[in-house]
Amino acid sequence: MEVLGGRGLLVKAGNQRIWLDSKAENDGISLVSHAHSDHAPGRSNKIITTPETACVLKLFGSHRFEKLIQYGERVKFGDIRISAYPSGHVIGSSQFLVEGDGGSLVYTGDINTYDSVILKGAKPLGSETLILEATYGSPRYIFPAREEIYAEIIRWIIETIREGEIPAFKVYALGKAQEIIGLINAYLKIPALTSFTIDRITESLSQHGFKLDHLPVNSPEGLEAFRQGECVYVSSKKYSPPSKHRIRWAAATGWALRYRLNGFDAAFPLSGHADFSGLVRYAEESGAERIYLVYGFAEELARHLRRKGLRAEAIER
Ligand SMILES: [Zn+2]
Repeated sequence: MEVLGGRGLLVKAGNQRIWLDSKAENDGISLVSHAHSDHAPGRSNKIITTPETACVLKLFGSHRFEKLIQYGERVKFGDIRISAYPSGHVIGSSQFLVEGDGGSLVYTGDINTYDSVILKGAKPLGSETLILEATYGSPRYIFPAREEIYAEIIRWIIETIREGEIPAFKVYALGKAQEIIGLINAYLKIPALTSFTIDRITESLSQHGFKLDHLPVNSPEGLEAFRQGECVYVSSKKYSPPSKHRIRWAAATGWALRYRLNGFDAAFPLSGHADFSGLVRYAEESGAERIYLVYGFAEELARHLRRKGLRAEAIER
């Protein structure tokens, strides 16, 4: 199998052309690892993805779906077989295994190798060729254990409410939003109030078995809870309805480990991506003979893996 970069990642397998998270309108088939906009496909692409990812993509545009595959399911396209496995990044996100006469290849998309309160971490898949994301592929990014970050978040929520202010998170509408709601549901007996887009996404994913208790902030009950103040507000924008309580804004991103985030009262290094150790472990355990790194610290991670004796190189998307 041949891996090419440029206008999106392209794999040539037999006579199939397989595009990976490519925005460009293209021929061949398009594997979509998850529904974040930087991975979203063109309108006419023949998409293969999970039902959960399709469900979120449909909320924001019209797309052409060739085939929806469940985790663990394997589908045939000519002489190529494609299967999807959880990647732990957001609800519905997947890694893909492509197998054919020319060998086998895994494309991870964005991965998180650690379990979260709502998702299982990604497990390494074996293949000859591996395309691995490298967002945090630098030894400067080693995150604390997720349980520790969760405990800090919960402590901060309780303290904020005790001091008469409303704890609020400005987070990605798909991913961190559901994780924060899941965390509130699991450990606190107070409502999670959601902004419009987060409510839409979370509601639509509930059809796929992800039941997360939340209240739209603009519903009568939501507004009442917000006025009363004993709640957590989860929003994709830094907007909030009027209230006599001051709002304390928090960010939740891996970058908070090394950077001060302006305009926030608190920041937690909670990431939907694996850290450096998680990525190195994935690369080693995959047993891949050839590793391509994409995104983020791709060059740095490639150098590190080569020092460990692996055949690794960074490629442009
Ligand atoms: Zn993503």
